[in-house]
Amino acid sequence: MPVFIPSSIAEATLLLSKHPDAHLLTGGTDMMVEVNFNHRHPKTVISLRKIPEFQQWNVDQVTGLVHIGSSVPYATMEHGDLAQALPALAEAARTVGSPQIRAAGSLGGNLGTCSPAGDSLPVLSALEAMVHLQSDSFSRSIPFAEFMVGPKRNSRQANEIIAGVSIPITNGWQGYAKVGVRNAMVISVASVCLAIHDDKVRVSLGSVGPTIIRCTESENWINSIGLANVDNALAKEFGAHVRAESRPIDDHRSTAEYRRHAVGVLATRLLLRGVQK
Ligand SMILES: Cc1cc2nc3c(=O)[nH]c(=O)nc-3n(C[C@H](O)[C@H](O)[C@H](O)COP(=O)(O)OP(=O)(O)OC[C@H]3O[C@@H](n4cnc5c(N)ncnc54)[C@H](O)[C@@H]3O)c2cc1C
Repeated sequence: MPVFIPSSIAEATLLLSKHPDAHLLTGGTDMMVEVNFNHRHPKTVISLRKIPEFQQWNVDQVTGLVHIGSSVPYATMEHGDLAQALPALAEAARTVGSPQIRAAGSLGGNLGTCSPAGDSLPVLSALEAMVHLQSDSFSRSIPFAEFMVGPKRNSRQANEIIAGVSIPITNGWQGYAKVGVRNAMVISVASVCLAIHDDKVRVSLGSVGPTIIRCTESENWINSIGLANVDNALAKEFGAHVRAESRPIDDHRSTAEYRRHAVGVLATRLLLRGVQK
């Protein structure tokens, strides 16, 4: 099996155009599990780890944008300037797998797999990230909301590589919380990202629907009341609105009923943390 290790974007996109059935590899923490379980049989692999642009990130306070290359590992998002600019992403990154998984796993891979349980995805949704895609002939950027189209389905074309994401910095509090069957090394059974920008709340849910769910009804409800009026009772009511927008199913990890309950509790807690009451 040929494994190509390009060292530039141009080389990688050209290789993909010549080998349209090639499997793209970043950290391999999803892909190698599938190979090991005999669920995936790549004939050709293009490894993206040696492309410098995909490993870069920057926080631009002038444009108010954070750019994160698709190969940047979770370990980099957990601390330092990235964590300061995007605390919700840092919280999500800290919950991913083990230190070994966080050293290898990337946003490009989380977006490539596009599981509703992917921990970075509710954050990219609530923070209104743009996903940058690159082929050998053109590049395009689309909102995360248009990128994820179903469970493990995204709108990436076969000749495109996820180059990175751009995430606007919010001017208010942001946080992420998840529930799993234990405290660590766990895929979420329910997750919530809540962000406040210009005194308005945004909230997105993971693991409780076929895609990440942006709770626009709940947002409109709480934003029409105003954050200054949030108290324990109102936060609980907000949780009920969020619960009503979830669309969970029963599966091997949890029941729909528990998931619905969990997102309501998480949303209530995050809102109270956000307004510090
Ligand atoms: C033990 C263990 C624990 C885990 N825990 C968590 C967890 O808590 N939370 C969580 O969200 N995930 C978890 N995962 C899943 C995985 O670590 C993440 O989804 C991670 O983000 C995948 O990134 P990667 O770079 O390893 O992707 P890879 O495995 O390299 O790729 C994943 C998919 O994306 C495609 N892809 C990769 N890069 C690109 C690109 N640049 N452009 C287009 N397509 C691309 C690949 O072809 C493949 O289909 C866990 C995995 C393991 C093995």
